[in-house]
Amino acid sequence: MSTPMSQSVQHGAAPQWVEALPEVRGSYHHQFAMADLCWFRVGGPADVVYLPADVDDLAHFLAHLPADIPLHILGAGSNTLIRDGGVRGVVLRLGAAFGAVEQIADRQLKAGAAALDVRLSRAAADASLSGLEFYRGIPGAIGGAIAMNAGAYGGETADCLRKVEGLTRQGEVVELTAAELDLSYRHNGYADFIIYTAAYYEAVPGDETLIRAAMQEISDKRKTTQPIKSRTGGSTFKNPAGTSADGPKSWQLIDAAGCRGARIGDAQVSELHCNFLINHGAASAADIENLGDMVRQKVHQTSGVELQWEIKRIGEAAHG
Ligand SMILES: Cc1cc2nc3c(=O)[nH]c(=O)nc-3n(C[C@H](O)[C@H](O)[C@H](O)COP(=O)(O)OP(=O)(O)OC[C@H]3O[C@@H](n4cnc5c(N)ncnc54)[C@H](O)[C@@H]3O)c2cc1C
Repeated sequence: MSTPMSQSVQHGAAPQWVEALPEVRGSYHHQFAMADLCWFRVGGPADVVYLPADVDDLAHFLAHLPADIPLHILGAGSNTLIRDGGVRGVVLRLGAAFGAVEQIADRQLKAGAAALDVRLSRAAADASLSGLEFYRGIPGAIGGAIAMNAGAYGGETADCLRKVEGLTRQGEVVELTAAELDLSYRHNGYADFIIYTAAYYEAVPGDETLIRAAMQEISDKRKTTQPIKSRTGGSTFKNPAGTSADGPKSWQLIDAAGCRGARIGDAQVSELHCNFLINHGAASAADIENLGDMVRQKVHQTSGVELQWEIKRIGEAAHG
């Protein structure tokens, strides 16, 4: 989902601390309508959204950001729910300067953290490289894929990621191997510490026609099994620990708890895939979050399992 930042700038009253933000070559956007930046299309404004000009600009910003100003990182917003009261502090969003994808060796591709997963999978197909087909159906960006160890249809980021470049919250440049990231099912050991700026992937030579056919199959399958045209955040809950391969999946527990199709206002548990929550248009973030909490409660009552949110929820509830 790409939204020209300039179209969404609102000119509300800026909090006083914005005076303390470092001077940057990138841009600050005050009182930014965050609903434009997330797939659910809900949420109040962020105090400030910062778009860095490049890695050096971002490093300078991080090194000089006062420690008491909260910082949130947003990718394509396909796994994030922004609460109705908006986000205090700064939301960092990587833009076009971080969006390049290139083949750097026979079997290696480098992707900027803002490149969409689907772009990387297409670049791999163009180079007749196999292993990244699963990214065809994941609507996020590479930074989010690393943070979440995104995966689908038997593949996950950890399988093909070799190395990442990033910055610490203090602006120091770091390079980490995929092994150092301690990736496991929808988990990254460094998720809250590193801002990813680029990633190196390794794939295996393959037949371009077969690679494209596999991508098409993934795309077709998703259309019939997931509400991909809806305002959603993808899988709401992680599959219960230890059961992602063979035990009951979250959607099965949700179904068994009778929650398929359940509604609060314009928020609904998808009829098609009941681990997806949908905004039919007028749902608030609170409707969606309350529906998710109701589902958790019902699943706990019927199966004893405490579902864990996979979707990241940021910001504050609306006041009053
Ligand atoms: C229709 C639909 C289908 C989906 N199907 C799948 C699926 O099959 N498999 C799957 O795994 N997921 C799926 N998802 C969820 C989502 O697409 C993935 O989790 C994706 O990897 C999130 O990427 P994003 O850029 O949108 O991240 P965001 O939602 O923007 O952020 C998610 C997390 O990543 C962090 N993050 C983002 N960028 C960076 C960065 N540069 N550095 C550090 N941290 C960062 C954020 O702080 C946040 O904690 C689906 C979502 C939708 C809407």
